[in-house]
Amino acid sequence: MVRAVFQPRNGIMSDDIRPTPQPGILDITAYLPGKAGAAGSKAIKLSANESPLGASPKAIEAFKSVADHLEIYPEGSSRLLRVALGEVHGIDPGTIVCGNGSDDLLHLLAQCYLGIGDDAVMSQYAFSVYPIITKATGADIIIVDEVDYTAHVDGLLAAVTPRTKVVWLANPNNPTGTYLSDAEVRRLHAGLRPDILLVIDNAYAEYVTAEDFSIGLDLVREAANVVMVRTFSKMGLAAARIGWMVGTPELVDVINRIRGPFNVNLPGQLAAAAATRDVDFTARLREHNAHWRDWLTQELTSNHMYVVPSQGNFVLVLFPDADHAAMAFNALAERGLIVREVGVSYGIHHGLRISIGSEQAMIGVAGILKALVKIS
Ligand SMILES: *Cc1c(COP(=O)(O)O)cnc(C)c1O
Repeated sequence: MVRAVFQPRNGIMSDDIRPTPQPGILDITAYLPGKAGAAGSKAIKLSANESPLGASPKAIEAFKSVADHLEIYPEGSSRLLRVALGEVHGIDPGTIVCGNGSDDLLHLLAQCYLGIGDDAVMSQYAFSVYPIITKATGADIIIVDEVDYTAHVDGLLAAVTPRTKVVWLANPNNPTGTYLSDAEVRRLHAGLRPDILLVIDNAYAEYVTAEDFSIGLDLVREAANVVMVRTFSKMGLAAARIGWMVGTPELVDVINRIRGPFNVNLPGQLAAAAATRDVDFTARLREHNAHWRDWLTQELTSNHMYVVPSQGNFVLVLFPDADHAAMAFNALAERGLIVREVGVSYGIHHGLRISIGSEQAMIGVAGILKALVKIS
């Protein structure tokens, strides 16, 4: 075999010269999604907090309505969706930005407000996207211990440094399901310098039943350094990739300067607007979830398992150790129930996150786990 060797003039082998990513990128561990089960299998996916009731029929109809016009660019600012959100939630559409999933908006917020030399603060078991988007800007992430799997306001405040620019708060949090009350969120905000952006990620807001919870819109209106981020993904439209955020007009202007000009697809905009107005469907999802979340928690708790109290559409079940969690994962998977392992992504090696699914799926999960506790 003949191999031609190109020797550049400076003597360095050309093989050694290559594009180099920005500082921080190679420190990132890529996001690990929940398993989906073998393709074509009848597995029930309880690993991604998707809606067990599908999407609003009105959203599906709206999505299909543009199938014959896919050659047309969407309206770039997602105006019809912002108007629908404004109407239903009582928000000025001018203070809303829509995104290709809330992930899109979280990335944009990081890119606009973080850079080399800065840091962002997050809670120990907070959503695993926050370290990724923080490090991608070259900023450092500060991780603060939790108490009882719940964000700790005093700890978060104590961790703030002169270089802190952002605090990421998922409320309720994924994968723990725990939340901070309105009073606690206000206490957190009150302890932050006004130049620190508090990002309240309310991905599970629709599922919260706790009476002392607030979506934080009042804070967004009162303060110049608070933004609320939401998603349609947990409400039946994960495939459409639609997120939205509310902030001050100044903040909205900043995000709009770098946002992709057509970042939200048209079928998705229409589907999300229809889903927003279909408040009956949202209420049904919420009721189904509250019922089966309570039921599953009760079933497992009364059979010697520990369930972290959840306000989301999932529960975090804690086993005596990692081996028991693995056994439970396998027993469920053998019966076609795929749940989320949270060891590698979150360091909760003895836990499994289980999405609230259909009645049949919940009865299946409870039965399998109860049988397992009896033999171990
Ligand atoms: C699922 C989730 C998101 C991301 O949702 P997308 O809109 O699908 O990007 C954001 N934050 C939290 C806490 C989540 O659990």
